[in-house]
Amino acid sequence: MKYIDEKRIGTLLNAASSAGADKIDGILSKSKSLQRLTLSESAILLAEKNSSQIKKILDAAHYVKDKIYGKRVVIFAPLYISNLCKNNCLYCSFRSDNSKIDRKALTTDEIKEQVAYLLSRGHKRILAVAGEAAPKGKSNIDFYVESIEAIYSVKQSGNSIRRVNINCAPLNIEEFKKLKSAGIGTFQLFQETYHEGTYKKVHPSGPKSDPENRLDAIERAIKAGIDDVGIGVLYGLYDHKFETLAILCHIEALEKKFNFGPHTISVPRIEPAIGSDFSVNVPYKVLDDDFKKIVAVLRLSVPYTGIILSTRETASLRDELFSLGISQISAESKTSPGGYSDSEEKNTQFSTNDKRCLDEVMGSLLEKGFIPSFCAACYRKERTGKKFMSLAKPGLIAHQCSINALVTLKEYLDDFASDNVRREGYKLIDKQKEGLDDKSLKQLSEIFSRIDSGKRDEYI
Ligand code: SAM
Ligand code: SF4
Repeated sequence: MKYIDEKRIGTLLNAASSAGADKIDGILSKSKSLQRLTLSESAILLAEKNSSQIKKILDAAHYVKDKIYGKRVVIFAPLYISNLCKNNCLYCSFRSDNSKIDRKALTTDEIKEQVAYLLSRGHKRILAVAGEAAPKGKSNIDFYVESIEAIYSVKQSGNSIRRVNINCAPLNIEEFKKLKSAGIGTFQLFQETYHEGTYKKVHPSGPKSDPENRLDAIERAIKAGIDDVGIGVLYGLYDHKFETLAILCHIEALEKKFNFGPHTISVPRIEPAIGSDFSVNVPYKVLDDDFKKIVAVLRLSVPYTGIILSTRETASLRDELFSLGISQISAESKTSPGGYSDSEEKNTQFSTNDKRCLDEVMGSLLEKGFIPSFCAACYRKERTGKKFMSLAKPGLIAHQCSINALVTLKEYLDDFASDNVRREGYKLIDKQKEGLDDKSLKQLSEIFSRIDSGKRDEYI
C-alpha cells in the first residue's frame, strides 16, 4: 500500500521492544513540550509493557490533552442516511451479502425529520454516514449533496445544524468539489486496516476491495479543496501496534505532500453487527488497556490532531478516554437510517455501548469538570487545514475555543438542559470565568447578554 512500508513498520516495532525503559522518560519530556514524535519514538511507547511505565505514558497524554484542548470535548451526532451498499466488508451489517437487515435510504423529508429530532435534543453538529450505493436513479454524489442541503435547511427556534461532516464512499475530484460546495465540514474515510493482506481478505468484493483507491481518496478530497479530512483504523482487523504506526505513517506522508495532516483520527473498535460472524469473532481484539495506550500514544504523537470516539465504547471507558486525548465524541447515537424515530433498534450498522441520552452525557461530562462544546466556529471562519494548524500550534486559537465552547454550552443549558444539568453547567461556567482575563471576560459577557436577549449562534 502506498506510504505504508510494512517491513519498515515491522523493523521499528522490533527495535522498539528492545529499546530499554530509559528511553521513555526522554520521549515523554519531548511530548510534554508539545512536540510531535518520530515514528520510532511512537513505536517505543507502543511497545512498552511495564505497567508503571505505561502509567507515565497515560499521565503524559493527560498533560498534553489539558495543555492543548483544556477541558473541552466537542459533541456530535451521527445521522445514517442510507444502509444501501455494494461492498461486502466482512465486519459490517450493511455489506451486500447480508439479507438480515432491511435496506433503506432516507428521503429528504425523512432526513429533515431526523434532523428536527436531533435539534430538539440540543445537537448542532452532525456526521452524515452512508453505505456505498445510492438510491435507485441517483448517483452517490447527488444523494450526498441533496442530503447535506436537507440537513442544513432545517430551522427550529433559532437553531440549525452548524456543521455537517460526512463519512461516505470515496469520490472523484469533481464529485469532491460538489461535496465542498454543499458546505461539508470534514470528509471522513477510514482505511480500516493498513495491512494489505488483511485489507484484501476483509474486503472481498465491490469498489472498496481496492485499497489504493481508498488511500488516494483522501488526497483527491484535499486536491478538491476539502482541507479538513478525517482518517481512521478499524481496530480488531490486524495487530493494533502495526495499525497505529501505519496511521502515523499515513499522516507523515500527507504532511509531507500538503504541509498539513488530517483534522481528525477516528479509532473505532469492531462491535457485533447483525449478519456478520466476523464482527463477533474479532481476530485481533483490542483490550481496554491496550486501547487506552493507543489513544494516549496518538495524542502524544500528533498533539494537534483531533481524536474522535464514538458510542461504540462504554460510558465508563469513554469517561477515562476523554482525559487521555479524545477531543470529539458522539452522543445518543443511532446507527440505522431513521433510527432516531424508531422505537426499537433494528437495521443497525453495529450495536452501540453508550446508550445514554445527550443530557446524561452532558451531565456526566460536567460532573467531571469537562466542558462539552458544540462549537463549529473554526470551519465557519475558514480556520481549516493548514490555516487551522498554523493557528493551533502556537496556541493562537485557544482564546476563541474557550469563549466559543462556553457560549455553545450556555445555549444548550438555556434551551435544552434538565434542571440538574443546567445547575451544574452554570457552576462550571462561573468557575471557567475565574480563569479568564478582563478582555475575554468582557467579550464573553457581551455575547452572554445577547443570548439572554434571545440571540443564538454567536461565535468568534
Ligand atoms: N460506507 C463507508 C465506508 O465504509 O467508508 C462509510 C460508512 S461506514 C458505515 C463507516 C465506518 O463504520 C467504516 O469505515 C468502519 O470503520 C465502521 N464499521 C463498520 N462495521 C463496523 C463494526 N461492526 N463495528 C464498528 N465499526 C464498524
Ligand atoms: Fe458498506 Fe461501509 Fe459497511 Fe463496508 S463499512 S459494508 S462500505 S457501509
